[in-house]
Formats: sequence, C-alpha cells, structure tokens
Amino acid sequence: IEKIQQAAADGRTAFSFEYFPPKTEEGVENLFERMDRMVAHGPSFCDITWGAGGSTADLTLEIANRMQNMVCVETMMHLTCTNMPVEKIDHALETIKSNGIQNVLALRGDPPHGQDKFVQVEGGFACALDLVQHIRAKYGDYFGITVAGYPEAHPDAIQGEEGATLEAYTNDLAFLKRKVDAGADLIVTQLFYDTDIFLKFVNDCREIGITCPIVPGIMPINNYKGFVRMTGFCKTKIPAEITAALDPIKDNEEAVKAYGIHLGTEMCKKILASGIKTLHLYTLNMEKSALAILMNLGLIEESKISRPLPWRPPTNVFRL
Ligand code: FAD
Repeated sequence: IEKIQQAAADGRTAFSFEYFPPKTEEGVENLFERMDRMVAHGPSFCDITWGAGGSTADLTLEIANRMQNMVCVETMMHLTCTNMPVEKIDHALETIKSNGIQNVLALRGDPPHGQDKFVQVEGGFACALDLVQHIRAKYGDYFGITVAGYPEAHPDAIQGEEGATLEAYTNDLAFLKRKVDAGADLIVTQLFYDTDIFLKFVNDCREIGITCPIVPGIMPINNYKGFVRMTGFCKTKIPAEITAALDPIKDNEEAVKAYGIHLGTEMCKKILASGIKTLHLYTLNMEKSALAILMNLGLIEESKISRPLPWRPPTNVFRL
C-alpha cells in the first residue's frame, strides 16, 4: 500500500502481477524465470494465489518466500479462510511473517473441486471479514491487508443475464465496506471486461465511504476457451463489441492474443484517464500479453520485451 501511495504521490502509474502455483516442479522453475524477467520492469508488488481450502498451502508458502527473498519483489500472498482450521491459517501467517512478507490478500475462498458449498470448520471462519478481523486482532498493523471487490457483485449474487439485482449489489458493497472498516487497506477487483461497470463500482464505493485505493484486476484474453470458461465461472458481462470481435477469430490463437492485448490496452487507457493510477494484471503465469499492454501504455520500455503482434479490426485482417 505504501508503494502504491508513493507511486501516486510521485505521479507514477503503479502496476502489479498475479501468478498461481504451477502443478509441476518444472512449471515452478519456469515461473521463476518468467518472474525474474517481469520483475525487471518494476511492478509495485507481485502476488501468488492460494488453492481453496489450503490445497496449495505448502507450495504457495514456498513460492511466496522465494518471491520475497530471492526474486526480491514486494510479495503479497493470497490466503483463503474456509475449509481450513484456524491453526493452519495462523501457521501460514506466522510463516510469511518470519520470511519478511508483509502483504496478505484475505479471502473467503471457493469450495474445493467437486463441492458446491464451502464448509465452515468448527471454530473456523465463514467469510473474508472474519479473516481480516483475525489478522488485525492477532498481528496488529504488521500486515497490509487487501480484500477482493466485485464490480458486478459476487457471482453468488448474480442471477442470469440480468446480473445482480440492485439490492444484491448494494448488499455486496456494504459487505465490502465492512471488510475495509475492519482493517483492509486495499481492494483488488475481480476481472471485468466492461470498463464502465468498473468505473461505476469505484464511484459507488466512494459514495458509501470506502476511501482506500481500488485496483482494477485486468485479465488479458490469451485464448478463447479460457476466456469463455473464466467469464462463465465468474458470471462476467461481455460487451457486445467484444463478442463481435472475438467470434470471427476464435479459432486463431495468435489473433485472439493480439486482440486481447488491444482490448486490455484500451481498457487500461480508459481507467487511467479516469484518474485511477494502479493496474493489477492477472498474468495466468504468462508474460507476453501483460508486458505488451504495459508497453502499449508506455509504462515499461519497449527494448526489454519482444514486440507484440498488432491488432486490427477483424473485417480487415481475417476475411478469408
Ligand atoms: P467474502 O468477502 O467473504 O464475500 C463473498 C460474498 O458473500 C459477497 O457477496 C459478500 O457480500 C457475501 N458475504 C459473505 N459473508 C457475509 C456476511 N457475513 N454478511 C453479508 N454478506 C456476506 N480464491 C481462491 O481460492 N484462492 C485465491 O487465491 C483467490 N484469489 C482471488 C483474488 C481476487 C482478486 C478475487 C476477486 C477473488 C479471488 N479468489 C480466490 C476467489 C474468492 O475466494 C471467491 O470469489 C470467494 O467466493 C469469495 O471470496 P471473498 O473473499 O470475496 O468472500
């Protein structure tokens, strides 16, 4: 948070990269090579996700430690709090504290694969608010705490095409405010593809008295199937022009990537023009698209990365 505030005070745009724990040892080594290259561009922080219910606990802790102490980047570790006893949560917090990590993204978590609902373990936590309160009560101000925000409301509150009702959206915002009032310093949002929805969300947060920085979570479209899966899971609204641009190119991986970079760049430009000066990139452990977007925005040097593919409207380029 201090790094983000400092960047704002200096008039700089801050950006950050999110990664997830790879499944194989080779994947982990590849990730660190990629991270080394990406960190050279000066992100304010990088974060590593936590498998729901602690399913990646050991690996997430190991990667977080290596990020902070060997990659030498300010590290934020995600931590979910359901399906897990409090001792396991405290073990994670003690471990990162002893490794010098000072940032936690406090989350409820989704149910593990194959389960519809998450289970509150006896004496355990039911929601992210419980975790924020626990961290502040037990660790004081040692940790900077980030929480998740949902510009379209949490998927549980979204019914069908219409999205969340005004009541569900309002309740969601009020719950977000409780997390901030309980001690969260920063909000990182769920992915979105309609920038106006995000900008409205920020205004709505400000109107109910949420004053901390709100960082947009940007997920570059890397491949069509992944995009459909992810936006289906998160119940994300897709503006008609995005569907129209993707439809004719969905089987052309390179074209989809190029469009993803173009779209990500345009979204970020609009966000930055609104006065928000921080961007969070969901990298999905890939470097090209995230770096290309930052390069297009003039936030990193072109010489350090290979040139991205240009994107042109599909009618000109992909007509057979
Ligand atoms: P909460 O803030 O607890 O809230 C979830 C919903 O329930 C909200 O709609 C809220 O309004 C409602 N709610 C909950 N409790 C109450 C209450 N007491 N009173 C009223 N309303 C309540 N998942 C992972 O497993 N690992 C990760 O690393 C991970 N990283 C993420 C990073 C980001 C930036 C985001 C946006 C999500 C991430 N997730 C991750 C997914 C997240 O765990 C799920 O979206 C989960 O379903 C909700 O987590 P939360 O912390 O937002 O929940």
